[in-house]
Amino acid sequence: MKKINICCMMCMLMLGIGGCSWKQNQDMAEHSESFFAMDTYMTFTAYGADAEPAVLAAQDKIRELEELWSVTDKNSDVYAVNHSSGQTVTVDWKTAELLSYALDMAEETNGALEPTIYPVLTAWGFTTGENRVPAETELAELLEKVGYDKVELNNDQIQMEPGGMIDLGAVGKGYAGDEAAQILRERGITAALLDIGGNIQAIGTKPDGSDWRVGLKDPFSGGVLGIIQVSDVAVVTSGNYERFFIGEDGKVYGHIIDPATGHPVENGIASVSVIASEGKLCDALSTALFVMGLENAQDYWRQHRNYEMILIMEDGDIYLTEGIRDSFSLNSEYRNMKINVID
Ligand code: ADP
Ligand code: MG
Repeated sequence: MKKINICCMMCMLMLGIGGCSWKQNQDMAEHSESFFAMDTYMTFTAYGADAEPAVLAAQDKIRELEELWSVTDKNSDVYAVNHSSGQTVTVDWKTAELLSYALDMAEETNGALEPTIYPVLTAWGFTTGENRVPAETELAELLEKVGYDKVELNNDQIQMEPGGMIDLGAVGKGYAGDEAAQILRERGITAALLDIGGNIQAIGTKPDGSDWRVGLKDPFSGGVLGIIQVSDVAVVTSGNYERFFIGEDGKVYGHIIDPATGHPVENGIASVSVIASEGKLCDALSTALFVMGLENAQDYWRQHRNYEMILIMEDGDIYLTEGIRDSFSLNSEYRNMKINVID
């Protein structure tokens, strides 16, 4: 199967909702804003008389968090930590909360989620756009700087071993989605859909009370492979097809790194989607399960069972957990794909 470059495109599509629009429709007026933030395209859509100010407030929150967590913005908390040369840095409480969560999930996933992978990611050029295949000796040296045990977090104080760097890219958008959803809920919104670069955060149901229909993207062609019907949950997908480069050797190198080897993950998984109430859990797990591979991802689910997942394999097989089976349907062109239920 041929992969096409759909770099930075959404891996989930919202269905049944238009673009930036403002429909005057009594109490359930729709307001939608599309914008670029956190290195991706976002579309927030909410319904109700107060939809517009609520969506704008949620958008402001995203911008505020982006300023804290950007790896490149010289005024961000993450930048300060990454250039601290071992000195203690005082950060915003939101940054401390996110890092604390990322470190917990790193431990919980046995280092599959590795918030200090940044130096290795940079060596492969994913942060600069100048992609290259680093030498094994270079990777071995860089891996010495990697490890979630090299970060000390005490309340709002972070100390990072010299040379080490943090990157909250694998959890930040999920966490930001939760924050944006909370703002909408606090403002009384009961129907909204946030599309955060393909990560979906659904608030309540559609205004008519029916489930949201979230499209699951075909990692090979970019088409819509199937539909997940959900309410009040986040749906987050990780895949190496979103950001990758093709080396001089003709191999595909993706942006999710196996911290055990320093190499892009190559384990037969094309994408992992995680469905749960919290976006931060979905985001952390979609990346970590991708690193774990099919067998370990199934074991991890059996030990936790606080989320649902859909794995699409490079060979076209689909694995999904039993709780999402009845909410997921394949589109007609994909009916021949084999669905395996994990229980
Ligand atoms: P995306 O951000 O594209 O939606 P993910 O949530 O899966 O996808 O996050 C991938 C990003 O996380 C990479 O671009 C990189 O910045 C970072 N990353 C890569 N490998 C790991 C890893 N093993 N653990 C934590 N972060 C990682
Ligand atoms: Mg993630």
